[in-house]
Amino acid sequence: MLAAGVCHSDLHLADGWFDLGGGKRLSLADRGMKLPVTLGHENVGEVVAVGPDAKEVRIGARMLANPWIGCGTCGPCRRGDENLCRAMKSLGVFSNGGYADYVMVSHPRYLSDIGDLPPERVAPLACSGVTTYGALKKVPTLKTEPTVIIGAGGLGLMCLALHRKMGGHSAIVVDVDPAKRKAAKDAGAVHVVDGGAAEAAQQIIDLTKGGAWAVIDLVGSSQSARVGYDSLIKGGKYIIVGLFGGNLTLSLPPIPMRALTIQGSYVGSVPEMAELMELVRRTGPPQVPVATKPLKEVNGVMEDLRAGKVIGRVVLTP
Ligand SMILES: [Zn+2]
Ligand SMILES: [Zn+2]
Repeated sequence: MLAAGVCHSDLHLADGWFDLGGGKRLSLADRGMKLPVTLGHENVGEVVAVGPDAKEVRIGARMLANPWIGCGTCGPCRRGDENLCRAMKSLGVFSNGGYADYVMVSHPRYLSDIGDLPPERVAPLACSGVTTYGALKKVPTLKTEPTVIIGAGGLGLMCLALHRKMGGHSAIVVDVDPAKRKAAKDAGAVHVVDGGAAEAAQQIIDLTKGGAWAVIDLVGSSQSARVGYDSLIKGGKYIIVGLFGGNLTLSLPPIPMRALTIQGSYVGSVPEMAELMELVRRTGPPQVPVATKPLKEVNGVMEDLRAGKVIGRVVLTP
């Protein structure tokens, strides 16, 4: 291992559940997570050994590992959406991940050579990068209209950086934390909105002159979903990515009458990871704040993340 990014979802994985709202929980044990498991799904390492069927992989090559490993045989896997596999084997979730000295990857198809790129800048692409890339690809109006991004934490700043690399028109960023709104503004957001303000959705409607064509919600709380959904223009799309948890009650007639789309987006596919790496080789790693810490400080880093003290990404290095 050369670098392992610490992701907000590691907190949910360590807790063992996601909040479904209304007092209900989604248990990871019920989803097939078997303990003990080593966390860490944003991994870059140097190849030190290969199995007999992986001869094309060069010892010493520096590789990003795509952690979203499927079974390869179910319906979603066969149509190319391994990230939506019905029996995922994801590194750092259902199999041991990169908060370790070594990690095992089951097939060379999950590896991307990073060449001379800095490992700590590439590691976050495995989750934060491909997750926001996959969400941005679902925005039909990316290049022609402002995109609203809710959440300016590690994922939000990555989304903003990739939005620019992908030729995005402009980005309006929403966050409840003034320090995170400032970080988003400094990173190129054309407007920032306080997501905790009572009239947050109306502010977005005003800034977009009639409503948002696309909202990417990287938080996924009851509050952020309300703001995102309520700010859509007719024909608009609300894309939910974040797993903070909660629920949303919707009146049904406005969905057809306003022709709204609600779409979920979960990490990214193997082809999307390849596209993202191609974009990064051509244009350089996204400029998001990255701090490195020694692997042995992992628990302290997770506590900081839980307390909301991290801006950008912390990457563990040996
Ligand atoms: Zn993650
Ligand atoms: Zn599968």
